[in-house]
Amino acid sequence: MGKVITLLKLLPKMHQILLTVLVSVTLIILVLPADDAQASKNANSQLSGTIELNHLDESTTTTSEFNNQDKLKVPLAFRTPTPPSSASVIPKMNDEANLVKPEVSIAALRAEKVEQDHTETFKVKSGDTLAALFKRADLSARDVYEITLLPKAKKHLLKIMPGQEIMISKSSEGEFTQLKFHLDPVSTLVINKDDKGYEEKVVNKQIESRTKFASATISSNFWNAGVGAGLTPNQIMQLATIFGWDIDFALDLRKDDNFSIIFEEEFADGKFLRNGNILAAEFVNQGDRYTAVRYTDGNYYSEEGRSMRKAFLRSPVDFKYVSSSFNPKRLHPVTGQVRAHRGVDYVAAVGTPIKAAGKGRVIKSAYNKYNGNYVFIKHNDTYTTKYLHLKKRKVKQGQSVKQGQIIGTLGATGRVTGAHLHYEFIVNGTHRNPRTVKLPKSLPIANKEKPAFLALSKQIMAKLQQNKQVQLASQ
Ligand SMILES: [Zn+2]
Repeated sequence: MGKVITLLKLLPKMHQILLTVLVSVTLIILVLPADDAQASKNANSQLSGTIELNHLDESTTTTSEFNNQDKLKVPLAFRTPTPPSSASVIPKMNDEANLVKPEVSIAALRAEKVEQDHTETFKVKSGDTLAALFKRADLSARDVYEITLLPKAKKHLLKIMPGQEIMISKSSEGEFTQLKFHLDPVSTLVINKDDKGYEEKVVNKQIESRTKFASATISSNFWNAGVGAGLTPNQIMQLATIFGWDIDFALDLRKDDNFSIIFEEEFADGKFLRNGNILAAEFVNQGDRYTAVRYTDGNYYSEEGRSMRKAFLRSPVDFKYVSSSFNPKRLHPVTGQVRAHRGVDYVAAVGTPIKAAGKGRVIKSAYNKYNGNYVFIKHNDTYTTKYLHLKKRKVKQGQSVKQGQIIGTLGATGRVTGAHLHYEFIVNGTHRNPRTVKLPKSLPIANKEKPAFLALSKQIMAKLQQNKQVQLASQ
């Protein structure tokens, strides 16, 4: 201020009007250096504020110092981030009246920006540490210390990865006020500092579920049909798992088999987030129709309310590993002749995991020159399954196994010419075709759940059929 007074005292000695103007302009710049900086800062916060607002939209409960309405009130002249320089200002300031106006506006602006924070987004660089980033953000040592004391901040911020972003807000005085860090597409860590101190919380977006319909007819194979219907690999596998007790996805699918599903999609702020559960599905395999409805217990039941889970999987090999063949006639790998075959051969890559078709006890895990490495599982007095030519056995004789447990890997051991799994299904001592054998009925849904399930099932299967009709009509 002393300087200014000196300048003012000097003024009367200068008689040229232009010089007066020049000095006055210089005066503004000298007297209000902070204001200039803040004006430009403010303009910057205007820009980052707009970006920040998008983030704010995502969080439903965060309150912020930002207020869009307030920002819109900032005079247009001050929305440019370019700080005023004497070169650019002088030509405009050619009379006293004009000179006064900016001062008023700067004062108004000064009053306004008290409520406004400046937010900047810092991107984590390769090799960056939190300390380095905080230094770039010009946070005080106290802020850094206090923030890293907070448990959630400690957990999440100390392992930041390149490309992640940390948003830091400061008051017009340059004091840290808020830090935001997106933990995932749904959750944001928010650290606020106010008079009471530092406080952290995780703000979650509200997730909205919508249902989507998809259907396809198999022309080449199930995988391609699924992809063609817009399903993700994960959804295709889920679908095969849901029907894995009824359909042998490795060997039983045929051209013109078809499926329809209704599944959930999750959105946050209207933006797609991820796929949810399959809610209902229908699969028509060689003319047989299978249905599945997801109930509130997370399990799937047929539309009549029978559990999809059964005592035996139709196939001990995941379909995705099997070279699918629609040819029902098979040549025995050794003799090359079609012959009565006591089991089913699954041709797949060596090392493909082989699953126990049902729970039971391993009654044999051994090697001989015909079977190679082989495993026999006794499920109960009625059922036994056999797995031959394994590369590796992963279970021991006498061991209990769960349904779906990996018991070994597909190989080419014993009397074979090519790698395959030879699988036998024995019912009361007689070899049966595991793909067609009638198996015990699965358990129905609990009686007390039945009315609620049937109501749900009726509704969602009707929706599925309706969607199917619409799609057929549109083709
Ligand atoms: Zn065989």
